[in-house]
Amino acid sequence: MYFVANWKMYGNLSSLNALDKVIKFSKSKEIRGGRLIYCPPNTLIGSFSKKFKDCQIGIGGQNCHESQEYGAHTGYVNPRMLKNIGAHFVIIGHSENRKKGENDRLINLKIKSAIEAKLKVIFCIGETLSEKRKKKTYLVLSRQIKIGLKNIKNKSNIFIAYEPVWAIGSGLIPKSQDLFRIVEFIKSKFKAKSPKVLYGGSVNPQNIINLREINNINGFLIGGASQNAKKFIDIVKKTY
Ligand code: 13P
Repeated sequence: MYFVANWKMYGNLSSLNALDKVIKFSKSKEIRGGRLIYCPPNTLIGSFSKKFKDCQIGIGGQNCHESQEYGAHTGYVNPRMLKNIGAHFVIIGHSENRKKGENDRLINLKIKSAIEAKLKVIFCIGETLSEKRKKKTYLVLSRQIKIGLKNIKNKSNIFIAYEPVWAIGSGLIPKSQDLFRIVEFIKSKFKAKSPKVLYGGSVNPQNIINLREINNINGFLIGGASQNAKKFIDIVKKTY
């Protein structure tokens, strides 16, 4: 199982101290089969990379520019720059960025570029509350997958993170039966080998007890709760 911590726009150098607990946990037997990945803000990727140099914890960026090249793009970093500073993963298509104008086509370009740079991609998809109410969930997910992964032949380095927008930061999670069906649906979209599918949206040490029962999920993308080392570790422990 994968446990991805998305720190969003939180964290500074003093946040590094709390990671000692997580590093210790990651080296203990209690980790079982858990794979931990931290996606801090870009400002901290280098420090995380040093901090995790003797352990198995992965590191990822939270977004990237669609170009492989260096260039005049104020405020952006490209996938090669993320890789160079120590990232192995990158989140692409997060709803918080879609909301700011990233569309499926741009997301497709970013995914291609990240794969070319040999990063693993955590590709986020999910419906809004109004789309859910209009019963458009499956339609929206199909479109996001179809355009987001257009002309990408080798999908072996792509994880899909299903994050219903209405579940992010709201304390709400989907009904187990709905979530199981949606994950099946996502996997069914892939002909050969289906990708690993993570669930994200309000995952916490309490509701993980229900989420862990959904046996087609391959891991979790965790926002708020991941900023607290104890809660993050608790989520992993309670999954097994
Ligand atoms: P929360 O866990 O805070 O709901 O955030 C989920 C998320 O957006 C992870 O990418």
